[in-house]
Amino acid sequence: MRLNVLQEKVSIVTGGSRGIGRAVVEALARAGSHVAVVATREDGARAAAESAAGHGVKTMALAADVSDPADADRIVQTVTEELGGLDVLVNNAGITRDGLLLRMSDEDFDRVVAVNLKGTFNFLRAAARVMVKKRSGSIINVSSIVGLIGNPGQTNYAASKGGVIALTKAAAKELASRKVRVNAIAPGFINTDMTADLAEGTREAALTMIPLREFGHPDHIAEAVVFLASSRSAYITGHVLNVDGGMAM
Ligand code: NAD
Repeated sequence: MRLNVLQEKVSIVTGGSRGIGRAVVEALARAGSHVAVVATREDGARAAAESAAGHGVKTMALAADVSDPADADRIVQTVTEELGGLDVLVNNAGITRDGLLLRMSDEDFDRVVAVNLKGTFNFLRAAARVMVKKRSGSIINVSSIVGLIGNPGQTNYAASKGGVIALTKAAAKELASRKVRVNAIAPGFINTDMTADLAEGTREAALTMIPLREFGHPDHIAEAVVFLASSRSAYITGHVLNVDGGMAM
């Protein structure tokens, strides 16, 4: 059933070629939004955009490195011109480069922060410039429960995702007077490429920490994104929504 809660809205989804981002692209399109898919490679973005177009909305595929502010500015400008505005930004692109603290290289720390935190800032700033002018918009930043509770081997990732939560709250306070809402989602363990390589022991140990006793599906995150993107959440800003099977309560 097509719900149309985002009829004729325009959305940008970073990291939309696979995993959580791909499910978000589909869900936004199903809800009636035109969608611009951003990913590191244009072919990946194109496959997701073509599939989403099947819901009868306009789509675009764009290659970018979210850590580059010029890419963020270019994409927001292109999408605004070609799709006729910007209503929803989903900052979903993210990477891991795990390693124990004592062995963590500067390069691995810096790159994860550059993509996950600075990349979110780059698109948030570019989109906010458009949204404050028309006094409406919804920005959703994909963080992680690791940004709330930490995780061994992920000091770089935890710092970046904790930063995304702080960034979300500061931006929400700053943009609220212009009716632009900024919220975050903190997923737990979700079945995607990012979690596909977990050792069996790690997977078993993770399951014991999840009250609902299963890993999540990308659609679980996509449903939360549609809610936060739509007017159904009109009075919610600066919130962190855990979608984690109860893991971080
Ligand atoms: P994934 O690895 O399956 O997909 C990542 C996406 O980000 C891809 O589309 C990739 O092209 C894009 N991307 C990566 N670096 C980029 C860059 N520099 N510029 C532009 N795009 C880039 O990951 P996923 O599991 O779908 O995760 C999506 C988001 O959810 C990430 O922010 C991740 O940290 C977060 N998250 C995932 C889980 C999980 O269990 N899978 C848990 C918590 C949070």
